[in-house]
Amino acid sequence: MKAKQKINIVWLKRDIRSQDHLPLHLAEQRSLPYLIIFLFEPSIISHPNTSLRHLQFQYHSILQLNKKLQAQGRRAEIFFTEALSALGDIQEQYEIEEIFSYQESGIQRTYDRDKAVAKYCTANNIQWHQCQRDGIVRGIKNRCGWDKQWFAAICAPMVKNEYSPLKSVTIENRFPLPGDLLVQLQRYPASFQPAGEDFAWKYLHSFVSERGKNYSKHISKPLESRVSCGRISPYLSWGNISIKQAYQFVTESTKNKGNKFPYQNFLTRLKWHCHFIQKFEVECSYETQCINAGYELLEHPENQEYISAWKQGETGFPLVDACMKCLMETGWINFRMRAMLVSVFCHHLYQDWRHGTYHLAQMFLDYEPGIHYPQFQMQAGTTGINTIRMYNPVKQSQEHDPEGIFIKKWLPQLQNVPTAFIHEPHKMSLMEQEICGVIIGKDYPAPVVDINEAGKVARKNIWGHRSHEAVRQENKRILFTHTKRKEEDAQP
Ligand SMILES: Cc1cc2nc3c(=O)[nH]c(=O)nc-3n(C[C@H](O)[C@H](O)[C@H](O)COP(=O)(O)OP(=O)(O)OC[C@H]3O[C@@H](n4cnc5c(N)ncnc54)[C@H](O)[C@@H]3O)c2cc1C
Repeated sequence: MKAKQKINIVWLKRDIRSQDHLPLHLAEQRSLPYLIIFLFEPSIISHPNTSLRHLQFQYHSILQLNKKLQAQGRRAEIFFTEALSALGDIQEQYEIEEIFSYQESGIQRTYDRDKAVAKYCTANNIQWHQCQRDGIVRGIKNRCGWDKQWFAAICAPMVKNEYSPLKSVTIENRFPLPGDLLVQLQRYPASFQPAGEDFAWKYLHSFVSERGKNYSKHISKPLESRVSCGRISPYLSWGNISIKQAYQFVTESTKNKGNKFPYQNFLTRLKWHCHFIQKFEVECSYETQCINAGYELLEHPENQEYISAWKQGETGFPLVDACMKCLMETGWINFRMRAMLVSVFCHHLYQDWRHGTYHLAQMFLDYEPGIHYPQFQMQAGTTGINTIRMYNPVKQSQEHDPEGIFIKKWLPQLQNVPTAFIHEPHKMSLMEQEICGVIIGKDYPAPVVDINEAGKVARKNIWGHRSHEAVRQENKRILFTHTKRKEEDAQP
């Protein structure tokens, strides 16, 4: 029997880009030809944290990557099957010698998948090299020395990728995307940020040249922040750019600016990005369990009516509802508005954070498990070590959207409500409601709870529980594992 041709594989995950890509670089350095693969795995994409918008973003990022690689006679091959089945199929046609990928700091399901792949590789004499991603360290037990290592990784020289057409491999792909899914993937809504490496750079360039000057000033404003924030989160989450590329580019291109303050704030957040993912890398149970087990003792009666009102943007709190509608349509809202949505859900509506977390994960175009779950729990107040912040949606609205311009954009039925009532339209008399054409309870809901009363109850329950012995015991463990200091984590 003729011996099969030996090849290597580059497995793209959340790193869909052509530059500063170590696995692609390592494969290029080897003498063997290599195949570049990207997988849509049914068991992974059917998890409730995933939505069509994520798959669309990934798909269009691959299309853009393939356009770049095409010039070099290369392409990334998309498989619609489980990782083991894809590898098995490739093994039938070739002999795989090495696989190169980045480490994935994912949920339990992807972690288990990776363990199965590692077992498969050992059994089949394949070497799997998993490179460190964005300075996240695998296998550490605490944060001693982490900052220093992170800066070293992020300030290291850029990987300059080159592609030789001679290293290309063709394959008969027996697992192409099913037609109906393909049609859905191709229909990328124009209301989302466009996917791919070129757009990542476009956003970065416009941030440093113009948009970023008001970064700090407008960071919590639901409307203005859409322009002044970096807006690079989906590109970082799906790896259209690396943290290193973003960090070095912004540092270099703002070094001669008079006011560096906004850009330094931005750079600090790039570190937060990795700080949170590092937490998740160490403890991915953040997805499903209170990280401070003491908070499992606090009961939250489930109220489907509240949960549904929150998910649909029909709570009767205009800023909350406008944010949810905007999120559904565009996939992005700023940090403060995300924190407020979680706060209202977990504190004022007093629902278990687990009933809301997948909904937001699905809505965020930039969904990154390593940030999402630790942030969600931090805002839900289940970590024990962070100050519990309760965001009153009426106050947030008065402060950050005083004229109600953002609210009116996303809740057009409130278009004619006077500014004096835009934050609490239910306070209008029936006659005032008729004059501005919105009847509360018919055209726009009445608030599902009394915000002040609900806040008081939640504060009492949640703050009261902080001193519970089970919470305090857990605090020690969390501080030791996830922070380098004895005080609280830096709070955004
Ligand atoms: C409940 C909740 C869930 C979140 N889920 C996600 C998520 O799934 N994916 C995600 O990328 N961000 C998440 N964030 C963090 C933050 O809201 C977004 O990173 C930010 O709004 C993205 O917009 P930007 O790119 O314009 O950010 P900028 O303000 O321009 O910041 C630049 C980059 O720094 C990082 N960053 C900024 N703020 C934070 C933060 N508070 N924590 C960690 N990293 C930060 C992001 O990578 C961001 O792209 C979440 C926040 C909350 C409160």
